[in-house]
Amino acid sequence: MLQTPIDYLKGVGPNRADLLRKELGIHTYQDLINLFPNRYLDRTKYYKINQLQRNNAEVQIIGEIVNLKEVAQKRGKRLVATFKDDTGTMDLVWFRGQKWVRESLKLNKPYVVFGKANWFNGVFSLPHPDMEFLEEHEKNLRSAMQPIYPSTEKLANKGITNRVINKIMQQLFIETKGRFEESLSNELISELKLLSKSEAVFNIHFPKNQELLARAQFRLKFEELFYIQLQLILKNLIHKSKIKGFPFEHVGDNFNTFYNEHLPFQLTNAQKRVLKEIRQDLGSNAQMNRLLQGDVGSGKTIVAFMSMLIAVDNGFQACLMAPTEILSVQHHNGLLEISNNLNIRIKLLTGSSNTSERREIHKLLENGELDILIGTHALLEDKVKFKNLGLAIIDEQHRFGVEQRSKLWHKNTSPPHILVMTATPIPRTLAMSVYGDLDISVIDELPPGRQAIKTVHRFDKNRLNVFRFIRDEIEKGRQVYIVYPLIQESEKMDYKDLMDGYESVVRDFPMPKYQISIVHGKMKPADKDYEMQRFIKGETNIMVATTVIEVGVNVPNASVMVIESAERFGLSQLHQLRGRVGRGAEQSYCILMTSHKLSNDSKVRLETMTRTNDGFEIAEVDLRLRGPGDIMGTQQSGVLNLKIADLLKDKDILQSARYYAKKVLSNDPTLKSQENKTILYTYHQLSKYKNIWNYIS
Ligand code: ADP
Ligand code: MG
Repeated sequence: MLQTPIDYLKGVGPNRADLLRKELGIHTYQDLINLFPNRYLDRTKYYKINQLQRNNAEVQIIGEIVNLKEVAQKRGKRLVATFKDDTGTMDLVWFRGQKWVRESLKLNKPYVVFGKANWFNGVFSLPHPDMEFLEEHEKNLRSAMQPIYPSTEKLANKGITNRVINKIMQQLFIETKGRFEESLSNELISELKLLSKSEAVFNIHFPKNQELLARAQFRLKFEELFYIQLQLILKNLIHKSKIKGFPFEHVGDNFNTFYNEHLPFQLTNAQKRVLKEIRQDLGSNAQMNRLLQGDVGSGKTIVAFMSMLIAVDNGFQACLMAPTEILSVQHHNGLLEISNNLNIRIKLLTGSSNTSERREIHKLLENGELDILIGTHALLEDKVKFKNLGLAIIDEQHRFGVEQRSKLWHKNTSPPHILVMTATPIPRTLAMSVYGDLDISVIDELPPGRQAIKTVHRFDKNRLNVFRFIRDEIEKGRQVYIVYPLIQESEKMDYKDLMDGYESVVRDFPMPKYQISIVHGKMKPADKDYEMQRFIKGETNIMVATTVIEVGVNVPNASVMVIESAERFGLSQLHQLRGRVGRGAEQSYCILMTSHKLSNDSKVRLETMTRTNDGFEIAEVDLRLRGPGDIMGTQQSGVLNLKIADLLKDKDILQSARYYAKKVLSNDPTLKSQENKTILYTYHQLSKYKNIWNYIS
């Protein structure tokens, strides 16, 4: 019944059905039920025209149209109706869809009109009001809480107003008798005191009162999140039982030698805990799929390295993929250094590796002489074949797409263990939804001795003071980053900003007293690397750069990060950039330079940055400002395309949904029990009609 095409509903017909399909994606009765109102209005109150206030509020008025005229305007014309009640007159105005409106309006018949009242030139007007004959209005199934449905301009222009959708919805309830199959188990319903499906669906569309509306919303949000979590957790479980991983049974010589003799510092407790979690995964029979989250500078690299040692000790190869050339080089050099007393072979493969290097790497990989390969996307090329890849690590995973993760997966006959690392803080609730099928480890502790970075906001006109401060820091032997936004590496404007900036820095910090590096995306990789290395070795005092340095670069002696046009950066980028300093024992500073013109969002971003260093807190603000889809990028935004729940506002419901999904599955992993029959059935239905997301390979 609920899969009946929408065309068959009385009052819809082929034209409207077409529009509903195209504009709102409504194909079936089921889709229509799931068209949840965006908000509700109180339509118990009626205004008189002489009671209207100039506050642009939504009002409902009873009256008649006494006159209808077209008024020419700059472009086209508008349709104006004079609307009258016993206290005065006002205008109803249409700028679009006039033909349809004119044909359907009746003069001198009582209407109820609804909309936002504008005050203009001494007259109140309602643009594109919601209209209904008083007679019908009184007959309708309605309540104090009037639902407002999502709509589009096209729908409104073709006369499918909110009122029409409301009527179609009523018809649906008449035809289905308002009875909807229960989709959660009795247990959950009674434990959580949920409304039944039918009650919830009724009250979401025709709420009897506030309380029932709230309960209906809760029930439907819970249900939505519950099935997503169920799917994610089920996927993870099936995965673990089906896909055999290589059991890395022992922790061997390399690991132990390194741990006991060559560890350059004591691991933090968080690092130890995460290593333990990884070791457990690697030692089990299942294939690891783990996300490692840790704020910038929390020390993920060493954890990655030691995990790779476990693979090597068990006779397997490992690889570490990073998003940029600079970062790969740095990982390669860093790991060579800390492993130089170990008997392992590490190589680097990037876009700029030459043919003979590549040939050698290919050979060593295939005959198994190479233990660890580090590199960029170049690792994914088909020519790169491992003898026995046992562990693949992806650094800064947010820079890669899902396909790339799955490509690594297929680098071997059976999939290697996978560890993805990210420093882009993702709010926990978001991580739960987007990475819900992964196991998550968190490094929530910075290495000891780090001082919190001091962050300030300065306007461009204070540049002289900022430069003076930089000079003092250089005097103390520190190094400084000055970063320019290059939103698109190809944009001429941005490039010019950078070069102008560079010139002014060179003027204020003249050679030979000061040495300056510059790095940007238009440079050849070799030149970039040369400049970068000069800075890393401490040969230059200032690094002028674009955001190419955003991820991963590690220069502990750098203590000042100046971000130019900081208002143009997003929060997570600002936080990443700031993470380039504060890596040594010295007090570090981040200076956010902006012009005076700041949008409200920019102000919030700057205020947040100066207030806190906590990546998770920053991520929460970011989520509030941008919404989940934007944060995760388009490739994953489908996951977040929720019908009723809101990851931002409904965190508690999400947590509870995840808790109950886990609980249900831990008692009954296959959902075969009588009790969970409804859940299993609904789950299959959802998967079948693609209302549930299938996004991770
Ligand atoms: P991220 O998590 O951002 O990748 P890194 O792995 O680059 O961080 O580590 C940042 C810096 O902290 C590096 O210089 C690293 O050597 C150092 N470091 C990592 N762990 C510790 C520790 N337990 N104690 C002291 N320093 C550490
Ligand atoms: Mg890193």
